[in-house]
Amino acid sequence: MVPYKTCSFNCVYCELGETTNHTIQRQSFLDIDLVCRELKERLPQLQGKVDYITLAGSGEPTLNVDLKDLVAEIKNLTSIPIAILTNSSLLPDPEVRKELQQLDLIVPSLDAVTQKIFEQINHPVEGIKVQEIVQGLIDLRKEFQGQIWLEVLFCAGINDSMSELNRLHEAIKAIRPDRIQINTVFRPPAIEGILPCAPEKLQQIATMLSSAAEVVEVVGQPRSDKVAVSQSRSFKKRILELLKRRPCTLSDMVRATGISHIELVKTLDNLTQAGFIQIRSHEGQAYYQFRSEEPEKLT
Ligand code: SF4
Repeated sequence: MVPYKTCSFNCVYCELGETTNHTIQRQSFLDIDLVCRELKERLPQLQGKVDYITLAGSGEPTLNVDLKDLVAEIKNLTSIPIAILTNSSLLPDPEVRKELQQLDLIVPSLDAVTQKIFEQINHPVEGIKVQEIVQGLIDLRKEFQGQIWLEVLFCAGINDSMSELNRLHEAIKAIRPDRIQINTVFRPPAIEGILPCAPEKLQQIATMLSSAAEVVEVVGQPRSDKVAVSQSRSFKKRILELLKRRPCTLSDMVRATGISHIELVKTLDNLTQAGFIQIRSHEGQAYYQFRSEEPEKLT
């Protein structure tokens, strides 16, 4: 929904890296007709195989001012439910909440309710007040008929103190989400040294928040130890070795490495920009191709 990396926050834990376009201004970012044409082509393969079409992006998707039109177009094409991931920063705006009414699932996040801790963890655009976000979430719950799954991501030593947990608990009780998803820093964060909470701590938090929603779950753990490879320095080397063997699509690499699209895209972007690899189009598909071990020597 937005280009890398356009966001109203610059979260210390962001797996996409640091925000390069730190903004709260909504804009047109996409050619909606093109998105719908591509979706239409893929729909025959998707029917019955996907739970949701999820609006996300390399940043905050509600910054896309064409959100309402895009959702309406997708609804014209398919009955697959539509979800959105949001950092909640635009929810104080009644217009944005109205645009979200057509969706089936909203996954907003809320990591802190104390302004100082909110700023420490989410680094919002100046002027964003977390109490207004909490009120936006409460209003959203009143207005929205679909499911709301609230995600709270905990960083050790930042937003996991007992006093912040108590405040979060009170706020979430007022928001009344259908589900609470508790997450931590399972993937490499934007800022070095940001640490995950221990599994026991996450379980403790889940128990504490259990009165605030029907379902409270700990999410986000890597599904296999292959994901841990991405955190090592040899990750880029592995991708280069793979691409030296043959050009691959993104899906080929997901299958070959077991690493998520989002992590691969980040690394592939870095490697492309540094000149190690290039993107070639063939039969309508984008292939990543090895270019040079020493791109600085290329003319
Ligand atoms: S985690 Fe989400 S909200 Fe935070 S900076 Fe990254 S994209 Fe933005």
